[in-house]
Amino acid sequence: MELAQRITGIKPSVTLAIAAMAKAMQQDGKDICSFSAGEPDFDTPEHIKDAAKQALDRGKTKYGAAAGEPQLREAIAHKLQRDNNLNYGAANILVTNGGKHSLYNLMVTLIDPGDEVIIPAPFWLSYPEMVKLAGGIPIIVDTDSSTDYKISPEALNAAITPKTKLFILNSPSNPSGVVYTRAELQALAKVIVDRDILVVSDEIYEKIIYDGVEQVSIGALGEDIFQRTIISNGFAKAYSMTGWRVGYLAAPVALIQAASALQGHSTSNVCTFAQYGAIAALEGSQDCMETMRRAFAQRRQVILERLQAIPGLTCAKPDGAFYLFINIGNTNIKSLDFCQQLLEQQQVATIPGQPFGADDHIRISYATDLITIEKGMDRLAKFVRSQI
Ligand code: GLU
Repeated sequence: MELAQRITGIKPSVTLAIAAMAKAMQQDGKDICSFSAGEPDFDTPEHIKDAAKQALDRGKTKYGAAAGEPQLREAIAHKLQRDNNLNYGAANILVTNGGKHSLYNLMVTLIDPGDEVIIPAPFWLSYPEMVKLAGGIPIIVDTDSSTDYKISPEALNAAITPKTKLFILNSPSNPSGVVYTRAELQALAKVIVDRDILVVSDEIYEKIIYDGVEQVSIGALGEDIFQRTIISNGFAKAYSMTGWRVGYLAAPVALIQAASALQGHSTSNVCTFAQYGAIAALEGSQDCMETMRRAFAQRRQVILERLQAIPGLTCAKPDGAFYLFINIGNTNIKSLDFCQQLLEQQQVATIPGQPFGADDHIRISYATDLITIEKGMDRLAKFVRSQI
């Protein structure tokens, strides 16, 4: 069977594949330490689950508006004003099937064949694939530890051509965990406005930040940049709701209307009763988020200390998200081989840097318990010792 051209060049999601493999191996009774997908190990907080259960009991089991339940769109707009200083109303919000779907809808709505989309590397591995699915051309701008894995305004400016439509910004970043400062964002915003391109700010990790760093939304830095900003976010990471699949896009009304039309012909509304859980997440106490954030902060400390004691591996201290992006260059093993051998020899599941645009790195998610972290680091140390 001949498949459509648009799908033939698309690679499967390595994060999902390795996470599924690790879960299957665990179910088979294997003693796997999984640091694979970025999935908080906490259950969804009770009050959020209760709200969804009550919604089921109240008959919220039918089709809803394709763009989302009006009450949830209102609650998201209110959250963006309250937390991010972004002046949106309900009409600026599209509720999507997770943060990933918000980005996919955006690409299909915005990108024409041949349009260029600038993506700093390392990047979340789904960005380039989504751009390609929409017919666009991902323009990868490399960064490394010498620039703190951040794109500079000069590098952004140099990458812009007459075909550039969009720049993808992800702060806190998956996989590097870096958080752009206000001054850095101001400098990037100036380039975006001067060169008249658009930016999508993926803020899915906004609540998972450490050591008092400030989380700034680029769209809040002035009216000119606000008009050129699209926000992508979701409930998965902040409220441990990965399986619920509720995310959102915030943007100028015309874009939201177009993306709603796309959604109306593709997925229709996001699971209706799940949206009521999301409303409770936004309107209820935010203490649950802080409890999880503190646990991640403690794990980050433990895992960093363990990792820095392993000769041959280097890793910068991340300011946000729950990943360590580890340079394995000294082992002279490419990341796919490294992860495969580590899994086979030590039953430790990690994610290779190659699909993130950094083949001399691996990614570890520390959204897992301390026992797994201690055991996994013992095994990683043993593996590295056997290689160098
Ligand atoms: N975004 C998470 C990760 O990078 C979940 C898996 C995925 O959707 O890629 O691990």
